[in-house]
Amino acid sequence: MSRAFDQLKPHLKRAMALNTALVLFEWDDATQAPEQAGALTGDVIGILSGEYFQAVNNEEVARLAEACSQETDLTESEAAQVKELLREIEKLSKIPQEEYQAFAKLVSESTRVWEAAKKANDFSKFAPVLKQVIDWQKKFAGYRAKPGQKKYDVMLEDYEPGFSMEKLDEFFAMVRREIAPLFRQVMESGVEIEDGFLSGDFDDETQEKIGRFIAEYVGFDFQKGVMAVSAHPFTTNLHNKDVRITTHYTDRLDSSLFSIIHETGHALYEFGIRDDLTQTMAGQGASMGMHESQSRFFENIVGRSAGFWKPVYGKLQEAFPENLGQVSLEEFVRAVNKASAGLIRTEADELSYSLHVLVRYELEKELIEGDLQVENLPEAWADKYEEYLGIRPENVREGVLQDIHWSQGSFGYFPSYALGSAFSAQLYYHMKKEMDFEELLEEGKLSVIREYLREHVHQYGKIKDSRQILKDTTGEDFKPEYYVRYLKEKYQKLYQLPQ
Ligand code: ZN
Repeated sequence: MSRAFDQLKPHLKRAMALNTALVLFEWDDATQAPEQAGALTGDVIGILSGEYFQAVNNEEVARLAEACSQETDLTESEAAQVKELLREIEKLSKIPQEEYQAFAKLVSESTRVWEAAKKANDFSKFAPVLKQVIDWQKKFAGYRAKPGQKKYDVMLEDYEPGFSMEKLDEFFAMVRREIAPLFRQVMESGVEIEDGFLSGDFDDETQEKIGRFIAEYVGFDFQKGVMAVSAHPFTTNLHNKDVRITTHYTDRLDSSLFSIIHETGHALYEFGIRDDLTQTMAGQGASMGMHESQSRFFENIVGRSAGFWKPVYGKLQEAFPENLGQVSLEEFVRAVNKASAGLIRTEADELSYSLHVLVRYELEKELIEGDLQVENLPEAWADKYEEYLGIRPENVREGVLQDIHWSQGSFGYFPSYALGSAFSAQLYYHMKKEMDFEELLEEGKLSVIREYLREHVHQYGKIKDSRQILKDTTGEDFKPEYYVRYLKEKYQKLYQLPQ
């Protein structure tokens, strides 16, 4: 009799193949698919996700998974796969298949409805379908909740194991207490940072050329990855030999540049996953937050530093001599770190970013656990922007309709964006003790930094969760104080604030 895991393997391979097809459709939908493909593709996705459901959720697989969990000779990778499989079975077995499929179909429609509503700047077009999405998600969370567990905690656990509302309330209280006032201080400092040269007529081809250069400089491997254009930049990973990033080209040069560095950070994580893990259920980043920590690490801590640009700023000037020819490296770096009170999360600077996330966390909590009604969402959204960022959206396009997440049913996702920044700050302070970080940047030795992260973070996939990675790498559990310290040190200096 062969090992239970060997019998399980073909089932897992089948599930991963179906998952890969679904992921490819997502990618295609955002980059290449024609507008009218939607409804029919929705049917295909519905069928494929049904197949996936069956591949993972059947008696044979459940029996084998159970048997595997008793086996003592599993490799580290196999054990992690079994753990993820049991987690997935636990999740799916509580949800009737017809409901799971109906929801998948609803979501592929609701994202289109959201898109149209956003275009029309009309929340009432989206509200009914959003209500359905929320009802489904609450129902599913109800099926899955352990005794006494809150629904929103079930949702949060999917994105960031180990971070329940209790832990996040603490974290966001610190954001409110420390970062919101720092942001106000910066806004009231009277210091004006010139960044006009970042706006202009930058032709797409040159942006793409320099973008590809920067992606490669940061470590993107074009033998194992591609870069395309989409409305909102994102990363799709099929496995560690096929990672796809997107960007967009606008009249803001920093928008494409830093989204490319950001997505490259995500891609490095996926490239770095061990071969015995990739294309398995444990072969992705540890969590959404840990993933975001890698993208934000490269985008902000590395990419917005003077050291990073020192060896390559000349190249950027050469690409856009009219815009940047007279702009010094120091001026450029100051400009890409400028803080401002904006309405759009994805365009937010590093300092105000977590405040955008704070708004969403508080609203999600009220939608799922409290009594906030969908109709009142635009108003509640605007009130919170006024409270934390000092500005009020004039319309829903720049307000509550700006993000795709809720239309996809992704409740509990947003906190991981802010957690990612906080994780990256904790990793950064630790790495500074282990290496001469600044010197490595100035000498263009990014491979040393990359290799450190591959060794301590990337390779493990889902073998460890985010808190375990932080503990093993930095010797400490999650400590948001590093994030506050990082932002204070950086912005007090940049805006000449009293310390
Ligand atoms: Zn990201």
